[in-house]
Amino acid sequence: MARIPEELIRTVQESVDILDVVSRYVTLRRSGRSFKGLCPFHDEKTPSFTVFPESARYKCFGCGEGGDVFTFLMKRNGLAFIEAVEELAREANIALPRAREDAGEAERTRLRAEALRALEFAAGFFSAVLARDTGRRAREYLGQRGFTDETLRSFRIGFAPDDGEALLRYGTQKGIAESALEAAGLIRRNDRGRYFDMFRGRVTFPIHDLRGKIIGFGARTLGDDQPKYLNSPDGILFHKGREMYGLDLAREAARAADRLLVVEGYTDVMHCHQAGLKEVAAGLGTALTPENAQQLRRFRVPVFLVFDGDEPGLKAAERAAETLLTGDVEGAVALLPPGEDPADVVVEGGRGPMDLAVERAVDLWTYRMERATARHGLSTLEGREKVARELVDLVAKIGDPVRRELAFRLLAERTRVPESTLRSEAKVPRPAGGGRPERSDAWQSWIEAERHVLRATLEDGAFWDRVELWYPPDRFRDTGLRFVATALSDLRRRGESVTREGLLSVLADKDVAVEALQALEPAADARHHAESFLARVARLAQVREAGDDVAAVVRARKAHPAGAP
Ligand SMILES: [Zn+2]
Repeated sequence: MARIPEELIRTVQESVDILDVVSRYVTLRRSGRSFKGLCPFHDEKTPSFTVFPESARYKCFGCGEGGDVFTFLMKRNGLAFIEAVEELAREANIALPRAREDAGEAERTRLRAEALRALEFAAGFFSAVLARDTGRRAREYLGQRGFTDETLRSFRIGFAPDDGEALLRYGTQKGIAESALEAAGLIRRNDRGRYFDMFRGRVTFPIHDLRGKIIGFGARTLGDDQPKYLNSPDGILFHKGREMYGLDLAREAARAADRLLVVEGYTDVMHCHQAGLKEVAAGLGTALTPENAQQLRRFRVPVFLVFDGDEPGLKAAERAAETLLTGDVEGAVALLPPGEDPADVVVEGGRGPMDLAVERAVDLWTYRMERATARHGLSTLEGREKVARELVDLVAKIGDPVRRELAFRLLAERTRVPESTLRSEAKVPRPAGGGRPERSDAWQSWIEAERHVLRATLEDGAFWDRVELWYPPDRFRDTGLRFVATALSDLRRRGESVTREGLLSVLADKDVAVEALQALEPAADARHHAESFLARVARLAQVREAGDDVAAVVRARKAHPAGAP
């Protein structure tokens, strides 16, 4: 950890104006006590990026990014924490101690930059090799798969020579340090401490992060080597479980098409692109990870899992559907004819059959229920019980309340087990490490309290003025409710009356908010619950302030230990 004293960091933060810093990158307009602009971290047409000068924080209600002036600079300019502090300290003419420990962080930043350069270099080298004699076999393979030169170029496909040292030799010759090649996962040491190339005799597929920077490679063997696909090792830039293939290219298209297709393989992605279907990405392993789900959720478009309709494909789709369901991603499963993957389908019929499959997609939950039904059957009591038991835990892990309610209802209808029984069964403790630990009962009751606050405001708009004092919109934990609260606050500020119709017209394009609003059925004692929630929030705020005092005392003591002059 870098060691700039906490007090000094706070002094830096206090001596710069977050509005001043942010407005160098974002055009901000006043909106009540806060300022709004177009988010620099995601593409949007209406401003949801908000700066709160009072608390010196920012928050985007579109993509969820938020933080203080340091995190803003870190994310906007790709700085390390220490670099952001240094930059602002320089502006404010505050001298920072040159702490020795800083070296660690600076070294990592330097290494990351060098590794990026090494990967970029390697991609160029591999594609040059593909075009030469050494790459003939790879070119033949790719030609047989039906790829055009243009597709190969736009995905920067290449070939890593067999000899085992080609990249190492050429790279170091061109001034790429061994340490950079190693940090990039492009070379590794053997038992005798000698470096050799990580990828040998393989077709290389560069893997990009969302900014389009190459962070690793997938590489397919042309022979019988195992594994058939080899990925870069996890390292300073690359984390297999986090990345997806083609997501950077799919981003714009997904927004335009309002959907994202997830397929199984690299070549599926490439074939889809070649057929003009660009909103397509693939996982890097066999299964989607919770981290993938998190990233997909940020795209805010429905995700279609387009899988082969054979048994392994059905099983893979089932696993992926569960990951998306528990990751709160809206989505559906689109199955292709058994034995055909997306690559086969588009090579034979272009994008038409893919679009058709997506049109016939079934939503994630229905698909998951159908799989269980196919396994156990519904014609016997035993079968219905098995279906219910298999699915009831999964329902409990769906974080979004609206989707979870719907899932309960559909499961009850299908199995004819009363909803109340399913609900009490669902209370079983979640398996360790699984699910979403933060969505505990305490979390749920907090969200319910947020709902009461909004219900009470819909009954009496003036109530909001007190709410905003203690619990402004940006504190709402539930995304949908946060949108509703923000819209409500805007209406109130403009002096308009707060009605469901008014809110619906403002929120029309935000499905998650509309769902949250529609789920706000009136409750008799909403005001009572809302009042006690506000009291609780106010109490917590006092405790927190007292806590700050304690922290200040502790810091002062550390700075001037007893007995020191
Ligand atoms: Zn944003």
